[in-house]
Amino acid sequence: MTRDATPLEHVACALCGADDPEPLRWLDDLRFRTLLSPVQLVRCRRCDFRYLTPQPRPGNEAAFYPSDYDPFRRTSLTGRARRLLLRHEVRRLWRYLAPPRRILDVGCATGDLLHCIREAGNPRVYGLEPDPRAAEAARSRGLVVWTGTLDTLPRIPASFDVVLFQHVLEHLPQPREALAIVAEILRPGGTVILWLPNGHSWAASLFGEAWMGYDPPRHRSVFTPASLRRLLAHAGFVLVAEHHEWHGLEWAWGLRLLARRAGADRLAKLLATVHLPLVLACTPPAALAALSHRSGRIRVIAQKVPAPPEQAGS
Ligand SMILES: [Zn+2]
Repeated sequence: MTRDATPLEHVACALCGADDPEPLRWLDDLRFRTLLSPVQLVRCRRCDFRYLTPQPRPGNEAAFYPSDYDPFRRTSLTGRARRLLLRHEVRRLWRYLAPPRRILDVGCATGDLLHCIREAGNPRVYGLEPDPRAAEAARSRGLVVWTGTLDTLPRIPASFDVVLFQHVLEHLPQPREALAIVAEILRPGGTVILWLPNGHSWAASLFGEAWMGYDPPRHRSVFTPASLRRLLAHAGFVLVAEHHEWHGLEWAWGLRLLARRAGADRLAKLLATVHLPLVLACTPPAALAALSHRSGRIRVIAQKVPAPPEQAGS
């Protein structure tokens, strides 16, 4: 047997590098059951950052992404609902996405977001996706998509105006390094838009291990607006907007995962068959959380701090 004995490894804090974790809770993969045993959610005692340990060894992630992993699926009813929401999101963000901007979507999966932006009128869209099947599916829609990660992307300074991370940053083993690369390829004053789970949310407190934002071991980091702000500042970005999503998706998922955690598989299956009505039914409490700035799904916009102007006459 030549394979690694374990596809998981102990990791230190990805923000400050300290290896001083305070255990918070055990997390199991309730969605896809890819874990042989639970992993631990910890808090870095030095900088307060929350992350999983152990985590998938980089290069060993495939075992934890089943073929029916949502972002790779494009035909289901939930897929259609997601695309409607995406179109709405693109309209709301159009002042950042309009031509002639060059846009890079990191971890673009099958290219739904890029497709929507192109459909809305900006053809200068590019994608980066580590999963070869998903990347090929995106290319079959006529999109320019490179198979790989930020590490493997040729770094041409200031070559993009906007970089998108749609539910991607929490999957990356080195989020700090990823944002440093983004700062390099963005023009000064360029924008990074991130969609991600918010660990400082009502849903995270209420659902505990069953909160969909944990999604172990695919999600390695659990960001909060505070830790995100620090991470962005470190890479030379300032946060300019923080939006809290109001729909009931994560609450519906929370109920489904609670049922699975309790071993009530028949109830979990039943809830899955009424997923969209369940999302609608869960929207009032989710909207209240959003109004209180405690939604479990946020979108933040940050700007690369422009270089100081050259001093004249020196
Ligand atoms: Zn730390």
